[in-house]
Amino acid sequence: RKVVIAVDGYSSCGKSTFAKAIAKKLGYAYIDSGAMYRATTLYGLQNGMFDANGVLNAPKLIAALPHISITFRFNGEKQRNETFLNEACVEDEIRTIAVADKVSRVAEIGEVREQMVRLQQQMGKEKGIVMDGRDIGTVVFPDAEFKIFMTADPLIRAQRRYDELKAKGEEVDINEVEANIRQRDHIDENREVSPLRKASDAFILDNSHMTVEEQMIWVEEHLNR
Ligand code: C5P
Repeated sequence: RKVVIAVDGYSSCGKSTFAKAIAKKLGYAYIDSGAMYRATTLYGLQNGMFDANGVLNAPKLIAALPHISITFRFNGEKQRNETFLNEACVEDEIRTIAVADKVSRVAEIGEVREQMVRLQQQMGKEKGIVMDGRDIGTVVFPDAEFKIFMTADPLIRAQRRYDELKAKGEEVDINEVEANIRQRDHIDENREVSPLRKASDAFILDNSHMTVEEQMIWVEEHLNR
């Protein structure tokens, strides 16, 4: 039986860590919808679609959408799923603050969202999947069997993301990380097309003070309801 688990919520709540753990436990595929918006943003950066002030030329990006192909492949050596943009691995580049800074502006564009949602629905066709994002339970898979809406204290989220970026060797300032998280949440909640919302039938999970193990216990309790 094909089952879809939708994990939505605010930026840097640990959605991907949690979604990956659920997928592993259930033997489902994990799909990172945010990586698709990030890869599209990287395409815009690589092709000079942002001006000196960081403002996006939206019509230019919309016109280029047919030339943007995004796929995921498993890298056995690194034991991770990687995002490919037009056949090039961009997994590390899409996680930089340069991309995080601009991605919410790209995700505001209706035409971009249409293309991403189509791709997400295609990828979700095959088997059991866990997909994380902002609109999975509301727009991409409104009929998902199990929906989770994640949230956590913004300061705790900033600290987690800061630790993650630092571990990767990125030079960042924690205030800059916090500002980026707050700004993305604000844009995501206030955009016209598919704003970030909790689906009415989603369970809320505030993981501010929870370990991944505790979150997995929470899932088991709720899955069996
Ligand atoms: O999940 P992640 O932080 O990688 O997503 C990056 C950005 O992509 C989000 O801040 C949001 O603007 C956008 N996004 C979205 N809808 C999704 C997934 C991500 O708008 N389903």
